[in-house]
Amino acid sequence: MKITQHTAVSIHYRLTNAQGELIESSFDAEPMLYLHGAENMIPGLEAALEGKVAGDKLEVNVDSEQAYGPYHDGLKQEVPLSAFGDIEDIVPGMRFIAETEMGQRPVQVTQVNDDTVTVDGNHPLAGQALTFNVEVLEVRAATEEEIAHGHIHAHGSCGGHEHSHEGGCCGGEGHDHEGGCCSDNSDQPAKEGCDGNGGCGCKH
Ligand code: ZN
Repeated sequence: MKITQHTAVSIHYRLTNAQGELIESSFDAEPMLYLHGAENMIPGLEAALEGKVAGDKLEVNVDSEQAYGPYHDGLKQEVPLSAFGDIEDIVPGMRFIAETEMGQRPVQVTQVNDDTVTVDGNHPLAGQALTFNVEVLEVRAATEEEIAHGHIHAHGSCGGHEHSHEGGCCGGEGHDHEGGCCSDNSDQPAKEGCDGNGGCGCKH
């Protein structure tokens, strides 16, 4: 089966930057499973996978525009230490939500100075050209439920999600009940719209 709109695709990938440094690899871990054609993937990689089949191996070079976008200097800012209020021990790598020129965004502390802190709201891979070495493992048709949710259900039904994700399960577009994933964990109360049996109760 070819990878086309609304197929469920499982891949292994190795991600390197323009200097050839390894950024991330799935080969020693779980493969990545995604819904093709739902913009769950960076555009350059999704386009390159179109039409491929299980067993295909490909190297995809993606420029920054087709990856995580350009680096915006305006998203990097120096804020006074006093803005962090009671938070002590601010160190590089900490993440906060901050007001930036592009609205509220997650920012990462990149540098701590005497009385200011440098934070950067860019994606860590913004402005970088990336290379993906990909192996296509499996391609199947997505279920109607997966297409409606805009993501893959790796463990069966909607209630099998191990975590609730914003805008995802049941709370996502195309659903008229809010509340995120319906849990099949009895420690958590069933949310409105759930059938209480760990299923979604969604009527598609
Ligand atoms: Zn779901």
